[in-house]
Amino acid sequence: MRTTPAASVLLASACFTFLGCHDAPLSASEQPPSPKLAREEEAMLSAPEEVASYTLSASLDEKEHVVHGEGTIRFTNRTDTPTSSLWVHLYMNAFKNSKSVFLSEIVPGFRGSGSVTRWGAIDVKKFALKGSGEDLWARANRRPNGPDDESEAEIPLSAPIAPGQTIEIEMAWDTTLPSIVERTGFQDSFHMVGQWFPKLARLDEHAVWAHFPFHHLAEFYSDFGNYDVTLEVPDAYVVGATGVRSAALKEGAGAPATGHRRVRYTQKNVHDFAWTAWDHFVEREEKMGDVAVRILFPEGYDAIAERELATMRFAFPHFRARYGPYPYETLTLVHPLPNADEAGGMEYPTLITTGGAWAVPSFARAPEIITVHEFAHQYFYGLVASNEMKWPYLDEGFTSFAEMEAMQTWYGHAAVGRLGPLEVDEYGAQGVIGARNVHDDVIAQPAHKFRSGATYGSLIYSRMASILGTLRRTYGDAFIDAFGVYARRFRFRHPEPADFYATMESELGKDAAAFLEEAIAKKGWVDFAVGSVFGERSAGDKGLFGESANREKREGTAKDPVHYEGFIEILRRGTLVIPVEVEIRFKDGSRTRTTWDGKGEATRIPLDGPSYVASVVIDPDGKVLVDQDLSNNTTLLSGTPPSDVTFSIASLVSQWLLQVLFQ
Ligand SMILES: [Zn+2]
Repeated sequence: MRTTPAASVLLASACFTFLGCHDAPLSASEQPPSPKLAREEEAMLSAPEEVASYTLSASLDEKEHVVHGEGTIRFTNRTDTPTSSLWVHLYMNAFKNSKSVFLSEIVPGFRGSGSVTRWGAIDVKKFALKGSGEDLWARANRRPNGPDDESEAEIPLSAPIAPGQTIEIEMAWDTTLPSIVERTGFQDSFHMVGQWFPKLARLDEHAVWAHFPFHHLAEFYSDFGNYDVTLEVPDAYVVGATGVRSAALKEGAGAPATGHRRVRYTQKNVHDFAWTAWDHFVEREEKMGDVAVRILFPEGYDAIAERELATMRFAFPHFRARYGPYPYETLTLVHPLPNADEAGGMEYPTLITTGGAWAVPSFARAPEIITVHEFAHQYFYGLVASNEMKWPYLDEGFTSFAEMEAMQTWYGHAAVGRLGPLEVDEYGAQGVIGARNVHDDVIAQPAHKFRSGATYGSLIYSRMASILGTLRRTYGDAFIDAFGVYARRFRFRHPEPADFYATMESELGKDAAAFLEEAIAKKGWVDFAVGSVFGERSAGDKGLFGESANREKREGTAKDPVHYEGFIEILRRGTLVIPVEVEIRFKDGSRTRTTWDGKGEATRIPLDGPSYVASVVIDPDGKVLVDQDLSNNTTLLSGTPPSDVTFSIASLVSQWLLQVLFQ
């Protein structure tokens, strides 16, 4: 998901050209992966273990906004330990009443806080073991989180499921869609149907069910499998869904209701299935490489739809180079109708929802950013399937970095937009936004543990993007390779933070891994600042030298022709250790750059040359996106050339503007 409505994305991301943000050298999207990534790709999984597969049939009652479903779950215990229960998520019950965990946890200023005008629910009608017909639902604990919440259920089994054993469950249920909330529901005749069926929690490697009630701010987690879903909708409705669409079916249990048709979608190797149905969708299709891309959008949104398709033309080769091939045959983009904003900005396997107004000026890249962001989730969530509830930064944080890196590659300084001479760049502003709450909350915690939606948004999205962006700019393409190794090595797996740190340590070294752990797990922060600048024109030796008869008085003689000596002190406040460059500009116009490893609380850079210092600039290329305060990164001395004074004033004005915009 994206945190902000599309209209505010422009304001939520800015760094001004005259601030001096520079891009690291761009990598061409079309280039083949580096030898390291090519090797990693050879060893990459081509498919996950099939654990939880669903064969479902569902019919939409478009007038009551209810989905009637039935089908089977096929579950295999892939662990080496028997399991004696099942856990089932019933996410739609989060919108059943105001006392659900989700709605009672509401925090202002974030998604899911809109008012529900029609309650939603999921009512299980049947949940029985295939074969024996044993009714498992009768024994279910349907309120494991207290008397009010029904968003998950524990189902004890009469006989444990042995390692390697497969069971099938037959089920039937009714899903009453809520008014649009949290990326699901209906608005008029538009239906966005997500988290709509009884869905097994994930049985992790230790044979522990990773289950949870549907928490505010949090998302989902489940095992991979194959989906075969047949949907019955009114004839006039256009359907978009996860997977590959088959022609309308006439077979099946009974004929479709009069004026209705059935469509079937199948998709292997995914861990969720969502769909949408509306009788006013306009659709376009385009083949991009091997992928059939389909976009559904409201009438009058053609220009925005074209921009979203153009984004995908860029994104497929870019993400292929960065994180490996997109392994599915289809991608469906859904642009919801205007008054269904909360249905927008969401990711499901092979289906993403975008959002925003019908007209966005071309200088503002909101449609492109939201499209890139949601597509990035196909990798970080879809393929690299971490527990989104427990470690949201592995999902939203990594996706925000991938979005930012892609947009910077595509548009450079104008990644977020351009207005006259003002170019708005995503790196700098994510740094400013991410720095706001750095002392308030730790990044490495479950979504619902954050103090507020504000700290969650700024830390999980912007701060995490800035942390990775700092490494990308500091380590250059070595970081692209390292992050690309992680994306490939854990494709079709469920990595945890330790997997990420270990990959970064093996690929980039201990310092990078330590930086990440301090920043993510310990509220790490850093502020580089110019301390003192000391120097004087060298006058040679002065004073008394030697003893007794050998004592000599020296009056000093200036080195020929002119010579200055001294030092510049650079301070590193805070707890993050990261190398930083320092540029020294001299009055004669010359410049030197020094890289300090950032270890220790301060360093002195010796001065020894023919000209005195005009100005000192820490991190002149803006690589350290997590620097807490940029206003102390530049020091001007008397005699500074006007161009440097202009640069410095512009920097301060830019930072002030950023802070005003994002407070
Ligand atoms: Zn997201």
